[in-house]
Amino acid sequence: MSDHLEKRQAPINIDPEKFKQAGHYLVDKIAELLESLPDRSLTQGESPSEIKRILGQGLVPQQGEDVNKLIETTTELLLNHSLFNGHPKFLGYITSSPAPIGMLAELLASAVNPNVGAWLLSPVATEIELQTVGWISEMIGYNSNCGGVLVSGGNMANFVGFLTGLHEKAGLLIREEGMQPAPQRGLCIYASAETHTWIQKAAAFFGIGTNSICWIPTDDNMQMDISLLRQQIEKDKAENLKPIMVIGTAGSVSTGVVDRLDTLANFCQENSLWFHVDGAYGAFAAMLDEQKEVFKGMSNADSIALDPHKWLYAPLEAGCALVRDRKKLAKTFSFHPEYYKFAEVKGEPTISMVDFGLQNSRGFRALKVWLAIKQVGLNGYKKMIAGDIELAKYMFDLIDNHEDFEAKNQNLSITTFRYLPSNLKSDADKKTDLLNSLNRELLTTLQEGGEAFVSNAVIDGNYYLRACIVNFRTTKKDIRELVRIIEDIGSFTRQKI
Ligand SMILES: *Cc1c(COP(=O)(O)O)cnc(C)c1O
Repeated sequence: MSDHLEKRQAPINIDPEKFKQAGHYLVDKIAELLESLPDRSLTQGESPSEIKRILGQGLVPQQGEDVNKLIETTTELLLNHSLFNGHPKFLGYITSSPAPIGMLAELLASAVNPNVGAWLLSPVATEIELQTVGWISEMIGYNSNCGGVLVSGGNMANFVGFLTGLHEKAGLLIREEGMQPAPQRGLCIYASAETHTWIQKAAAFFGIGTNSICWIPTDDNMQMDISLLRQQIEKDKAENLKPIMVIGTAGSVSTGVVDRLDTLANFCQENSLWFHVDGAYGAFAAMLDEQKEVFKGMSNADSIALDPHKWLYAPLEAGCALVRDRKKLAKTFSFHPEYYKFAEVKGEPTISMVDFGLQNSRGFRALKVWLAIKQVGLNGYKKMIAGDIELAKYMFDLIDNHEDFEAKNQNLSITTFRYLPSNLKSDADKKTDLLNSLNRELLTTLQEGGEAFVSNAVIDGNYYLRACIVNFRTTKKDIRELVRIIEDIGSFTRQKI
């Protein structure tokens, strides 16, 4: 008989004293980590087999282990074998240094564990998420009455905007009939060649197929060529195809370029096209007065994707989708079976986040974003984002004045460049292969070395290095040291190949 169920001691429970011990130990270790970040190796550069060996390859454990010991050994494991994107010299991809308040927020959020799918199950948490979405919209100057939802990242946020646009503009009863009826064959989506790869996943998995994407070339500024867009759409209409959506990018992933959003927004309005802006990386820079011109027109987008886990420095994961007309968002995502008919609370209607996106049960990712906004305020964010952009310019100038580098371009907080020794400068065009492999090898050595981290971009067929600063810990000194580290590795690599 199950007598132990009369007074239950579930093995997963932790008694309060033990919980405190483990928690205090962990918080102490995290504080030490944060303090020591600048002096730590950014990564150990270990191979998959080395890491597998450290983990041990046993079968699923039959018996449990002591909690305190587990927390200790796992803390050691992670602190000694991770890549730290919080390191001040981590400038790779678009991954920010995590805000410490976000770490505390995650602990608190998981302790309360609200299910932010339904208001009834998450009263404060839902209201915090709604407020966070409203603040994000206000920060970038978007419609204060828009609909919005927090999601796991930029891809998911783009999917939400994409799906809403598809349902609004396809002219089909997609919810009822799917993509089955014949006319959908001609649906066309327009995106510049610089658009992030999320658009391919969206087209592939939401039923219209990647052939529906019409790639519009970019001009000399790497912005979507709008005259080519116009021509293409005229041509497609003449062939009885059905243009439905244009994707603008507010901060391209490889070079940080912002499309001419104002012209695109007007063009879409005139032609009844859905205008979605992918601002996963760049949109938060719209809060800066000095960037207002660059982002002009973004406020007229039908939907915008943003990433608080990029330029709001939230720990992973936090993306955000905004849709100008809240009703259209709900029209796309809301279903109300009997078991999800949420009652009013004390006679007031409630909003349930399950109506605004793909997820059902939802975590409380809003808390870390909300707390960080409250901690630093709009002014704090302006200062940090402007600082990141200034550092990218500083880096560009340093490199531009260095005889063994070529500075390629700088937009928002991204700087692209390559190692180009002075004696190769005159005939760099003829030495493309050599320079590409020199820089490729340099980057591998840098990334495995653990002193600093940048990633790469391919521009006009050439291989460039790329620093993206979404890191409130980075200083000018870090940038100077980074350039020196790359110079050293460059001259060493050059002798090798
Ligand atoms: C990062 C990024 C994405 C993807 O966002 P995730 O958060 O990685 O899912 C999409 N578009 C752009 C422009 C990005 O910078």
